[in-house]
Amino acid sequence: MSGIVGYIGGQNAIPILIDVLRRLEYRGYDSTGIAVIHDSSLAVRKRAGNIENLKESLRNEPLSGSIGIGHTRWATHGKPTENNAHPHITGRIAIVHNGIMENYLTLKESLIKEGRSFISETDTEVIAHLIDKNFEGNLEQAVQKAVREIVGPYALAVISHYDPEKIVIARNENPIVIGLGKGEFYVASDTTAILSYVKDIIFLDDGEVAVIKKEGVQIYDSNGKLTVKNIRRLGLNPILMEKGGYRHFILKEIFEQPRAIWDTVRGRISGGDIIFEDFRLGDSEIKKVNKIFITACGTSWHAGLIGKFMIENLSRIPVEVDISSECRYRNPIMDSETLLIAISESGETVDTITSLREGKRRGAKTISICNTIESSISRESDITINVNAGPEISVASTKTFTSSLSALYLLAVYLAKVRGAINQNKVTEKVQGVLDLIGKVEDVMSLEEEIEGLSRIFYERKGFLYLGRGINYPVALEGAMKMKELSYIYAEGYPGGEMKHGPIALIDENTPVVILAPKTSLYEKNLIDIEEVKARQGVVIVFATEGDTEVRKMASHVLYLPHVTELLTPILFTIPLQFLAYYVALRRGLNVDRPRNLAKSVTVE
Ligand code: GLU
Repeated sequence: MSGIVGYIGGQNAIPILIDVLRRLEYRGYDSTGIAVIHDSSLAVRKRAGNIENLKESLRNEPLSGSIGIGHTRWATHGKPTENNAHPHITGRIAIVHNGIMENYLTLKESLIKEGRSFISETDTEVIAHLIDKNFEGNLEQAVQKAVREIVGPYALAVISHYDPEKIVIARNENPIVIGLGKGEFYVASDTTAILSYVKDIIFLDDGEVAVIKKEGVQIYDSNGKLTVKNIRRLGLNPILMEKGGYRHFILKEIFEQPRAIWDTVRGRISGGDIIFEDFRLGDSEIKKVNKIFITACGTSWHAGLIGKFMIENLSRIPVEVDISSECRYRNPIMDSETLLIAISESGETVDTITSLREGKRRGAKTISICNTIESSISRESDITINVNAGPEISVASTKTFTSSLSALYLLAVYLAKVRGAINQNKVTEKVQGVLDLIGKVEDVMSLEEEIEGLSRIFYERKGFLYLGRGINYPVALEGAMKMKELSYIYAEGYPGGEMKHGPIALIDENTPVVILAPKTSLYEKNLIDIEEVKARQGVVIVFATEGDTEVRKMASHVLYLPHVTELLTPILFTIPLQFLAYYVALRRGLNVDRPRNLAKSVTVE
């Protein structure tokens, strides 16, 4: 799920390519590289590891050129070495590629039989050979022919010093956009990476090939016909892409949560009611829905699990939640009375896109909850609920998760209202609850210092156990995931009542057990969990509701959060777990914004 960049215009491309690559590093950082056309020749520079290595090499031996492409890699085929790094130069062309070529082995064999030799282990090099093989002086024609042979998702950008005044890009399922400047054009895997350069964007659709010259852009559809595309104007603020005085993006993004949640809910609530203007499904269709199917991956899957509690509790519509990579292969039960909700931060997660398409094929109505406007998932679904958290640069998700939960909560209230499961008074009460929540999220930020203190005690532990019940069980999963992602400490999230059926064996005086014990309908059950852990010499860290003196008597580490209604507790109780993972990782000297092996937007299987 690598990041792609391109530049063509009057400026030196190198600093621009480097800057955009830095913004795309969330997509992977196994290696970086650039290729430019200079004095009718092709120059390439690539390095294993992150962009600093490439920058250093360019400081020692500068390059220049006004047409260039670049890549930051998340390896799928071949080790993260310099040799496998993109751009790949084959014959007369240079290519950067994001995606997986599923049929690369068969094609590689036949290309070898034709006398072509390979120097990397990547699938990308097969595409490079296909383009070079079809190249007869016109680059876009070569790309058009080559992409017909690719099975699997791709986004790619190609240049050639034999047809030097252009960049050719192509897309199938993986994102790529063109930014329109004055006499210059930018290419990137996402819009936010080029936000400080351009406001006007063209999104490429599946099967399209674009030719970008200094004079303008031409786009061909999958049949090779010239096509006219809409230009979209971006409304995002480039300031959101900077650290704004915080030590790390993740810390800034944790602190942005009150604003991110507010931006997600405002405009959807008014005068004590929920106004879902983006909701194009009629009331009669909503009434017909007999099942909701939520599909998502990773942190978004945790949001989906919480969404199930919210929707079932308020609207009484049965909800099934399925991990997208499982859903796409298991013949899921969906029909025209199913409402499919796809949750994805980037809107480009390939497993989720595929599950969404599967739902559509079976006749389901589709809603997406995404933090990226105009992403593939939002464009392909019937209804899009934009999560307005703003760009999230840190690889581990924080503000998008809690903002998605707020969107899911509003959706749950809205569905319940339309179906008559709750009356207008209840709706007004729920809306007020959301308004009150914002201030409470701000209050939770004051726990930072106390949690930093806890991190000093626990940062060298080998494992953590997280327990929660009911709607807070997925919060335990999310807390454990954050700890794994950021600190590389093994952490397990479990439903509190299930602990005794297995994980209880993990408990000893060295394993901290984080217990979520807000004042909910399951509060008394949380107390049983605390007792059971203590009885086995476990170290308990409890997150409880303000004014709860009972837990104080039971546990040595208790942190208090404001009171909210049960269905909103996950939004508050997630935040201290984000702080805990952050500070433990920081004490361990790790890269908190870019944990190893991860990428933010997983556009491959
Ligand atoms: N398959 C290519 C590689 O391994 C690109 C990876 C990707 O974009 O996910 O280099």
